[in-house]
Amino acid sequence: MILKTLRRIVQEVNAAPDLTQALNLVVERVKEALQADACSIFLSDEEQGEYVLMATIGLNQEMVGKAKLKYGQGLIGLVGEREESINIDKAQEHPQYHHYPQVEEADYNAFLGVPIMHQGELLGILMVQQRETRQFAEEEEAFLVTLSAQLAGEIAHARAKGALQELSKKRRRKKTAMVLPGIPGAPGVAIGHVVVVYPPADLEAVPDRPPENIDDDIKLFEEALSAARDEIHALQVRAKSTLSVAENALFDAYSRILDSRTLMNEIEEEIRGGLWAQAALKRIIKQHVLQFESLEDQYLQERAMDFRDLGRRILAQLQSKKREMPEYPKNTILVSDEVTAAALMEVPEGYLKGVVSGSGSSNSHVAILARALGLPTVMGVTGTPITQLAGKEIIVDGYNGQAYLSPSTNLKKEFQALIEEEQQLDEELQSLRDLPAETQDSHRLALYVNTGLATDGGLPLSVGAEGVGLYRTEMPFMLRDRFPTEEEQRVMYRQLLTTLSPRPVVMRTLDIGGDKALSYFPIEEENPFLGWRGIRITLDHPEIFIHQIRAMLRANIGLDNLSMMLPMITSISEVDVALRLIHQAHQELLDEGVDVKFPKIGLMIEVPAAVYQAYELAKRVDFLSVGSNDLIQYLLAVDRNNPRVATLYNGLHPAVLRALQQIVKLGHKAGKKVSICGELASQPVAVLLLLGMGFDSLSMNARDLPRAKLVIRNFTIETAKALLKEVLDMDDPIEIRCHMEMALEEAGLGGLIRAGK
Ligand code: PEP
Ligand code: MG
Repeated sequence: MILKTLRRIVQEVNAAPDLTQALNLVVERVKEALQADACSIFLSDEEQGEYVLMATIGLNQEMVGKAKLKYGQGLIGLVGEREESINIDKAQEHPQYHHYPQVEEADYNAFLGVPIMHQGELLGILMVQQRETRQFAEEEEAFLVTLSAQLAGEIAHARAKGALQELSKKRRRKKTAMVLPGIPGAPGVAIGHVVVVYPPADLEAVPDRPPENIDDDIKLFEEALSAARDEIHALQVRAKSTLSVAENALFDAYSRILDSRTLMNEIEEEIRGGLWAQAALKRIIKQHVLQFESLEDQYLQERAMDFRDLGRRILAQLQSKKREMPEYPKNTILVSDEVTAAALMEVPEGYLKGVVSGSGSSNSHVAILARALGLPTVMGVTGTPITQLAGKEIIVDGYNGQAYLSPSTNLKKEFQALIEEEQQLDEELQSLRDLPAETQDSHRLALYVNTGLATDGGLPLSVGAEGVGLYRTEMPFMLRDRFPTEEEQRVMYRQLLTTLSPRPVVMRTLDIGGDKALSYFPIEEENPFLGWRGIRITLDHPEIFIHQIRAMLRANIGLDNLSMMLPMITSISEVDVALRLIHQAHQELLDEGVDVKFPKIGLMIEVPAAVYQAYELAKRVDFLSVGSNDLIQYLLAVDRNNPRVATLYNGLHPAVLRALQQIVKLGHKAGKKVSICGELASQPVAVLLLLGMGFDSLSMNARDLPRAKLVIRNFTIETAKALLKEVLDMDDPIEIRCHMEMALEEAGLGGLIRAGK
């Protein structure tokens, strides 16, 4: 019964359109469920250090938004201070009771207040009162605690969206812009004018009806498809000149859908089955969208959006709609409910300064492209009628994932100063391009880039990288509806090896599982990160592994800049088996008369077990590379993709630092080079520590590479070692971060920290 009531309330609150209505619903329903005489909610206003009455039934309604209690004041203050519920029969006799005549609570005796906690933060207090002098029953208290815990997430969400601020008149007066909260999509700040783009046509609006003439409709569709193909092709040509291989692959995915006979056949079948071309298109696109949306993998879910976009483009052609191109000003900020990769490419070169998308996340294709193009981007801005933004001035803060509409002159000035500071830093970074990553006392480190699925910053060479330290080969596998053939793989690998030649390229063997799934090879597991992933899959499927190895070896012919790397190694035996298979593939090719060289082989240290056996593992291969993204999540038992525990995911945790130091020591003891290729390597605060530990190379996304170089060039190896020694004596990751930030500030590199790292 209680559970049912709880569920009902939570569902209703979920559906409430805004915070005020949600809170009013809560007080009404709770009062009913507990048969209390009053129920109220106070929310915490951190800036003012007080609790504000936000909703009530039973107290004076007129005081909503006005009744305020300082932190620590009254029984409400006590609940907040203790962060636990307080249940008393005669509130007015309690020493902490605060008399507040305007709220009109003189009649009430019993008081039960529970804190509303979200991720360790106190959001406010939920309170029920009763005339009768009796304590609330334990079950009632438990009910309220449970309800409060469930509602906390909703309240936090609504509060983040600025609803609380809107209720605060004082702040409204001070308001300097309308804040549009979202998620960071691509870093950087831009100021410009909004251009709203709309989908080319509305698939949903197409009615189902039979074709007038089946053959005519098929022909009509073929023509529309061909026109859409031309349109995408034109964008692709532009993309090719600006983007790297990996980002271009996103457009290849579009083309592949358009070029495949499958789509045409599917549509033809629908038309022959009795639907006119437009409805046939609607049905088939919907099927594909649903199929992709139902997949766990975020990357594949994104393909649903590609399909929807293509569907609309083909429909526009079918309806022979002349698409009106908006007027793009020189400082265009592109805004849409669903910004697509293609829409980015439609803006004339040099005009686009930033992006705001109503949907999507930092994994969306458009966010990946925006990062590659250096366009500050905010994703997932919901709750704002986008059409009303057209033509308005806007600031895009891609670091914090917020946009500011119609900013005041002062706010604009502040952001303008930030932009200038960044430009200066960029110029400085640009000037380092051809200089080595060398400390002031001549200690040299190699800086490589990571490329593949979510590569940042375009071509590795343009940032002065010495090679590719991690090529994630999942990309060629994800873009298809089946495993790619050896030859298809060879072509892609060859392209990268040729571009980078003679610089080294470390290609990692297929690392699917965990959060990376293939649509055509579904893996259903309760605990995917502890399941069948990386080398575990490929060793169970040597046929897939050997194809890939052969493709890599053949791609390397005449170039000889290939290294291979094995992911998710947990045990020595896995390395032994993998090496045997690589030797087998190599021998096969030699036997076939193909002149392939045996490459350098490395393995990733990303499972804690491998840290302890790093020496024995290193003995078997040519180099080690730390996958810190996974190593951190496994060491700290924190899912790398779970926002609820994101604050616990910390690369500066003392346990992580000790593990990293241990890996370097053991790798070097075995006489092998040690690299790191997780995100940690790109954080300026960590770069110094990694330098101090003795890593031979760091591999990171292209955008961050110049910053890492700047850090290295501003320190000596001796200082880095001393800093490392100091932080290894510290217990607290926050203290460690502060210590390192101070070191950067003192070296005049504070700008690197401000830029959101
Ligand atoms: C890592 O785990 O640090 C890593 C580089 O691999 P991925 O992020 O692809 O799992
Ligand atoms: Mg990994």
